[in-house]
Amino acid sequence: MIRKIGNYILIGMIAGAILGILGGLYLSDFFLSIQFIGTLFLNALKMIVVPLIVASMIVGVTNLGDITKLGRTTGKTILFYFITTGFSVVIGIIAVNIIQPGNGVESFGAYIPELVSESKSKTFLDVILGLIPPNVFDAAANGKVLPLIVFSLLFGAVLTTIGEKGKPVIAFFVGINAAIMKLVNWIIYFAPLGVMALIGGIVAENRSSIEELVSSLALYSLTVIIGLLFHAIIVLPLILKFFTNKKPVEYFLNMGHALATAFTTASSSATLPITMECVEEKNDVDERAASFVLPLGATINMDGTALYEAVAALFIAQIYGIDLGIGQQMIIFLTATLASIGAAGIPHAGTVTMVFVLTAVGLPLEGIGLIWAIDWFLDRCRTTVNVWGDSIGAAVIENTKEFTTK
Ligand code: ASP
Repeated sequence: MIRKIGNYILIGMIAGAILGILGGLYLSDFFLSIQFIGTLFLNALKMIVVPLIVASMIVGVTNLGDITKLGRTTGKTILFYFITTGFSVVIGIIAVNIIQPGNGVESFGAYIPELVSESKSKTFLDVILGLIPPNVFDAAANGKVLPLIVFSLLFGAVLTTIGEKGKPVIAFFVGINAAIMKLVNWIIYFAPLGVMALIGGIVAENRSSIEELVSSLALYSLTVIIGLLFHAIIVLPLILKFFTNKKPVEYFLNMGHALATAFTTASSSATLPITMECVEEKNDVDERAASFVLPLGATINMDGTALYEAVAALFIAQIYGIDLGIGQQMIIFLTATLASIGAAGIPHAGTVTMVFVLTAVGLPLEGIGLIWAIDWFLDRCRTTVNVWGDSIGAAVIENTKEFTTK
């Protein structure tokens, strides 16, 4: 029964997206006026992200049972994310070298978008310093997810070491976790409407750049999309098949709500509640693995973003006629991987962290202005792949010895 309702909702979300695209194009004023409905849906998701991360990480860690498993599981999760992100960057680099979307394109409209110029570029030291929040409530209030994860990991770990005193606290977070998951179920009922309003609004706002999609930026967008599709349809399912006994097509269909939400919101963080619901409840992945791996994945594992950053950087180089040799492309490989890890799970974050990639190989930051017009669309595509990659990570980690043995 629940599965059936889930299917209806998924069909509703797809219909909502189609209606949103058509409505945004042909009834723009109306769709701009109902954009607030989409914002309500988005806010409802964001509203539960912080309590969800804290409760699910604490429950995930305490459920691991043995504290030594924590280090090994964290290590394996991070290794898995690094490897899959590495694969995706290689795919991006190969695609952009074969298709050469920037060759013969005139450099047009180069400028540094405000979002990029206003962002302070972070050093490696800043990232390390940012891991331990001086004020955990400030981290929560400002959506700084990574420090919140670190706090929850430590807090959960310590709860398992204080015996009886820790038990009521653990039970408290188990209750919060269950309540939040129930809230997710409720919010999903509004997803079709939310998707229609959000997509309709964004299409209405960006109607002019749709022409750009089919003109000067067409080949570039196609290169990103081909790379993303290759990674999502071939590489990730093969990994799933190889390391788990799950069926990739079924796994994918069960992720439908989360993938549609990722496309609609362009935010891995906002999608996290629904990702958890799909992975745990529809794909039956062990809650202990999912509640631990997914929040981490939503923040640091961004296959789609890494691929996009590599393609975008090489596209900009091609437009400016700068020939990047194999050494420079290696630097792009490394920096795109790191920049994707550093990007927050929010809209356009990947384009902002691209400053890091461009600077590393001496490309002009104004190049970001060339691709900015179409970022609203490619952001959605790469976020969908980011979430798909996270969900595969949960299934793979579920199959590691820490979870398969008692
Ligand atoms: N919007 C992406 C995400 O939330 C990050 C990016 O801009 O690439 O996963």
